Amino acid sequence: MTKYDFIIAGGGVIGMTTARELAVRGASVAIIERGELGREASWAAGGILSSMRPWTENPASAGLSEHGKMHYPQYISSLLAETGIDPEHVNSGLIIIEAKHIADINHWASSKCIKVIEKIENQKPEIKLPEAAILLPEIAQLRPPRLIKALRKSLEQLSVSILENTEITNMMKRHGRCERVEFNGGKLSAESVIVTAGAWSKLVLGDRFNEINIKPIHGQMMCVKPAETALHSIILDGGHYLIPRLDGHVLIGSTIEDIGFNKETTMTAQEELRDWAASVWPSLKNAGLVKHWSGLRPSTDTEKPFIGSVPGFKNLYINTGHFRKGILQAPSSALLLADMFSGHSSFMDIGEFSINSQKNLAKFV
Ligand SMILES: Cc1cc2nc3c(=O)[nH]c(=O)nc-3n(C[C@H](O)[C@H](O)[C@H](O)COP(=O)(O)OP(=O)(O)OC[C@H]3O[C@@H](n4cnc5c(N)ncnc54)[C@H](O)[C@@H]3O)c2cc1C
Repeated sequence: MTKYDFIIAGGGVIGMTTARELAVRGASVAIIERGELGREASWAAGGILSSMRPWTENPASAGLSEHGKMHYPQYISSLLAETGIDPEHVNSGLIIIEAKHIADINHWASSKCIKVIEKIENQKPEIKLPEAAILLPEIAQLRPPRLIKALRKSLEQLSVSILENTEITNMMKRHGRCERVEFNGGKLSAESVIVTAGAWSKLVLGDRFNEINIKPIHGQMMCVKPAETALHSIILDGGHYLIPRLDGHVLIGSTIEDIGFNKETTMTAQEELRDWAASVWPSLKNAGLVKHWSGLRPSTDTEKPFIGSVPGFKNLYINTGHFRKGILQAPSSALLLADMFSGHSSFMDIGEFSINSQKNLAKFV
């Protein structure tokens, strides 16, 4: 049986960025994915490189998000140079139209030296912005499916072993170690195993991990093609948003549904999303529907991911639970974990995301 330095269990954006970061440092890595790499939550995402409510984000998650925001331009340019695939990282800015939070946003932004613009110009009259809207001009977006394609090519070039259509059925654990990973058609072993299976991480780990509370939260999203391009910035209103793409498509997102492992898309959600979108940009009411899809976000009780070792096991690790920020936080989470393996100090303390540190926290948030 081939023995790798690392097995990455689950091939979404978190698994792929983790595999890349370790392979770049010279490790031998295998990534095991039940379907095709990156086709679950990571493909479904809008690609906004900001949390939905940065002014209320807990300090640990905010540190990861802020690093993600700063680190992405360099990350994308190295991926582009390496693979020739452009994830379309664009500094489109983010307009928040929740009047009741304007004072909180201003307070948060000034304490973090984040640029805000309260007098928003250059939006076309078709877009109905309320008086009290605020623009965060430094927020960027990217296209997740393109990011996934670039990451995939990078992993191939780095000689990462990619096992797709391969469902992990058991992690054989003995004497405080994960001895091997078993899947349909075979088994593999590694010095270290990292679980990156998103909403399914708890199932992949197996029972006995009650403190790791990760659950799926369903999100539906649609893409429309308006007759004219009127919007250049992302618009955010509570959990709803519009994301204008460079090619004129507009994404309308998203629902938040706690319905288990169910990925069904519904007409009710489509109508709800379209009605909200039309309240901001009336002609979206009749804009042609290009696609309607959904994904399962991995959520945790503490609103921060689990990154680090799995207690009780010498060689078992986890990187998951990024909920609505997995695209934003993926490269930074991978860096944090890889720095831990390399014995380097990193941009923040990985202990903030340990399973033990979150055990008793959940009931207080
Ligand atoms: C509608 C929607 C919009 C979003 N918008 C944004 C956004 O704008 N910005 C942002 O930052 N984030 C956004 N997110 C969140 C982001 O998509 C997730 O946080 C991120 O994709 C999680 O990545 P992951 O790799 O942990 O999970 P996933 O992408 O779900 O990957 C987990 C992988 O593990 C695999 N797996 C599961 N079980 C097994 C098994 N037994 N064996 C092998 N493989 C297995 C799965 O097949 C899957 O491919 C959005 C999510 C949704 C649903």
